[in-house]
Amino acid sequence: MNPVLLKDPLVGPDIVVQDGLIGESAVPGAEVVDVSGCVITPGLVNAHHHLLQSAFRTLPGTRAVPMADWLTVMAAAYRESAVDPELDRAAAAVGLAESLLCGVTTVADHHLTWPPGVDPVDLALATADAAHQLGARLCFVRGTAGDDPDAAADSVRDIHRAFGGFDPDMLQLAVGPSGVHADGPETFAALAEVARDLGLLRRTQANEQVDVAVAAGRYGRRPLDLLDDWGWLEPGVTVAHLCEITADELAAVAEAGVTVTHAPGCDVPMGWGVAPVADLLCRGVTVGLGTSGGGSNDGGHLLADARLAVQVSGLTGSPVSASDALAMATSGSAVGLGRPGLGTLAPGTPADLCVWDMGDVADAGVHDHAAGLLWASPGRRPRDVMVAGRWVVRDGVLLTADSRDLARTLNTMIKERTA
Ligand SMILES: [Zn+2]
Repeated sequence: MNPVLLKDPLVGPDIVVQDGLIGESAVPGAEVVDVSGCVITPGLVNAHHHLLQSAFRTLPGTRAVPMADWLTVMAAAYRESAVDPELDRAAAAVGLAESLLCGVTTVADHHLTWPPGVDPVDLALATADAAHQLGARLCFVRGTAGDDPDAAADSVRDIHRAFGGFDPDMLQLAVGPSGVHADGPETFAALAEVARDLGLLRRTQANEQVDVAVAAGRYGRRPLDLLDDWGWLEPGVTVAHLCEITADELAAVAEAGVTVTHAPGCDVPMGWGVAPVADLLCRGVTVGLGTSGGGSNDGGHLLADARLAVQVSGLTGSPVSASDALAMATSGSAVGLGRPGLGTLAPGTPADLCVWDMGDVADAGVHDHAAGLLWASPGRRPRDVMVAGRWVVRDGVLLTADSRDLARTLNTMIKERTA
């Protein structure tokens, strides 16, 4: 890879890329890319996705319904389309290609669907292969939702072994029970043990509607109290959603040293409430940003959700600034994944970056370009995207695959399976 010089951005200094890293200073012979009129940001990091759900967007019966009904409709759709590695690969490829085209260079995929008779390793490899082919960084989260605890833990070891052939810089593995609504203490314990053995991070979800209801009905408790009891409120754990947590819970989260993933693009339309992001940030909690999956948030467009996070925070009484939201979508998510070198443009860190062209009418009249990146031009996509020093998107076109082919493949597959 030749060194690259990104010259004359609207905000900040020129950026040099060399050997897959952000460089210190200009390098002779570098390819010069004119970024005048553009803002450069770190590649966005989606801390919470369910890539498989890219095959199940806008399903009838999944909007404006209680979460219990939503789960039932989604489960029926998975069964009807016979989820297997082929479908998983096609859905993951679509979700990851969409991510790259939206400036998301790293995706944490919380995978929760393990149909009987399908080897979990094959499903995990299908997703990992798609990420490898497209040039996206992936954290594959071996999730559970009512799975047998020991079988789930064993499969984590198998997947860990199978991932040995990939570049660990591009592919991570983590473990993640869906939440206290779906899994009991045995599953949390089994996954914590295997995470400890293999040095993996832990991720889970808490305080979506069903989670709160099941915790109350089954245990007479709040989800975060159960997570605390079960040893899952401690450093190395990231908790997604955290809708409508109380002041005491907020303090407990801050004290526990867990990191948090905000997912307003899922929580708001589903009516699950909003995490008190500004208060969490104020307490020093690391907050990342995730889209969650296509079953609840039909887009994998993290910048759009950063914009939503800013907009909806106005209703919570503690507003979040555009720079806070962008930090969540970059460094906040990256720290939660144990990858602080991602989500920054500091010299020596991996060269994952986006070039956002702000030279057209949608951005004319913008005074603060860093804030305007979120506030203006809803749905904006980056002009160019780089992962590990390699261009994966140029002039808005994916270079690593034909994105229309990926869309066609998935659509045909769904049609055939549900005919
Ligand atoms: Zn989720």
